[in-house]
Amino acid sequence: MSLLTPRPGIMDITPYKGGESAIEGVDRIIKLASNEGPFGPAPSAIEAINKVSNIQHRYPDGGATALRKKIGAKFNINPDQIVCGAGSDEILGLLVRAYAGPGDEVLYSDHGFLMYPIAAKAAGATPVTAMETNLTTDVDAMLSAVTDKTKIVFVANPNNPTGTYIPKSEMNRLRQGLRDDILLVIDAAYAEFMTEDDYDAGIELVNRTQNTIMTRTFSKMYGLGGIRLGWGYGSEEITDVLNRSRNPFNVTSLALAAGEAALDDELFVAKTRKHNTHWLRWTEENARKLGLECTTSYANFALIRFPHQDKHSSRHADAFLRSKGIIVRAMASYGLGDCLRVSIGTEEEMLAFMEALTEFMSN
Ligand SMILES: *Cc1c(COP(=O)(O)O)cnc(C)c1O
Repeated sequence: MSLLTPRPGIMDITPYKGGESAIEGVDRIIKLASNEGPFGPAPSAIEAINKVSNIQHRYPDGGATALRKKIGAKFNINPDQIVCGAGSDEILGLLVRAYAGPGDEVLYSDHGFLMYPIAAKAAGATPVTAMETNLTTDVDAMLSAVTDKTKIVFVANPNNPTGTYIPKSEMNRLRQGLRDDILLVIDAAYAEFMTEDDYDAGIELVNRTQNTIMTRTFSKMYGLGGIRLGWGYGSEEITDVLNRSRNPFNVTSLALAAGEAALDDELFVAKTRKHNTHWLRWTEENARKLGLECTTSYANFALIRFPHQDKHSSRHADAFLRSKGIIVRAMASYGLGDCLRVSIGTEEEMLAFMEALTEFMSN
């Protein structure tokens, strides 16, 4: 052992484990473990990536000027209040490092996204969770968990891995109940899948307040998880802080090109959204018919609960699905050990998944 000592918190981190993509001895894998989408990358993005391959000796535009302008026009928001990142994960990490440190608390809900505690600990801050109600963010519980040490509140809306969301009235009530010196981060990674009238991804709240930021990603709806591209929209005060602390070339020119093209790909988005809504509800309905509980999810995955300690437990289900070449996501790291999270794949993949699940439950 050397005498090197990382900052407090670092050694408490359990490294994030992504969904697996291979099973030994199985050739044909159906991967429904990482919410990556059924159709591959948006075709327009693939074309755009190919077009910039020959300028990869050049540094990218560190200001992501064209992409921010395009996002600004699409959402009718000020490009100066947008910061792009290597995935929205990067933005989440930058926010914690900028606004919280040792002695500070970072608050999120019980089954909130795992990057929140990781980012908090990496900054030496203390992650704190608030109870959920019916696997949904509970604004009152959240507000009761605030202390004078709270610096940041994260809400994924819809949340991963529960799939549930809170309406904009509840998000407004949360903001209103938080002190002004607390940063509210609305992580809207699945906003593109939402069609509910009472939902807002966060733009309205960011427009009205100085201490709220919304984050978005190209990894889910646009099928670009591999390119690493996300963005945040916040007050100029917040984006100024992010622009000072981010790496100068944090987004590659491949990602910038892919993002610009994907934003225009309305056809791909419409097709993906329609497919997702249909197969998500189909998956939930059929799982319920097998006697399994599901949340009603608004993202691109279903959360299915299995009986506790029984031959039909989630652990056995996971193993059985694997024996059929199907990889879903175990949820123990989220405190949902009885649940499996299943991403919505192609029609063929969902039929294969449900056939395997039906066989498992009938044994
Ligand atoms: C997938 C996901 C992200 C991260 O997305 P990247 O842009 O790929 O970093 C952030 N938040 C939630 C809730 C997610 O599910």
